[in-house]
Amino acid sequence: MAHSVLIVEDEPNIALSLQFIMKRAGHVVRVAGDGDAALQAMAAAAPDVVLLDIMLPKRDGLSVCEAIRANAAWKGVKILVLSAKSRESDREKALGLGADDYLTKPYSTRDVCDRVNRMLGLEGGCGPSAGAV
Ligand code: CA
Repeated sequence: MAHSVLIVEDEPNIALSLQFIMKRAGHVVRVAGDGDAALQAMAAAAPDVVLLDIMLPKRDGLSVCEAIRANAAWKGVKILVLSAKSRESDREKALGLGADDYLTKPYSTRDVCDRVNRMLGLEGGCGPSAGAV
């Protein structure tokens, strides 16, 4: 059965490359371009994994993370934060709010895919790298 991934990213080219590699790995993908849209997409149908940018319009990624963790219905949703914020304190903040993992930009899409598949309990399936974003 296909797994579903919600990409929350306001930069279209980054969203596109993430979308590409997630689809290639066989996942069903949706994209939200801001924090409010992310929670609306969550409410419409909970994904298995959320790829979450921190710096977003309307509502930032940390607030989205907090809102997801405040809802018991979304307890099983995995959150992988993808952020340009590279300080250890940013990472700790995100993990403290309930994120499952944290990757700093620039990251390779291959690495994102590997981590997503590991979260889903899948082995491999990511194929060659589609480049760094
Ligand atoms: Ca951003």
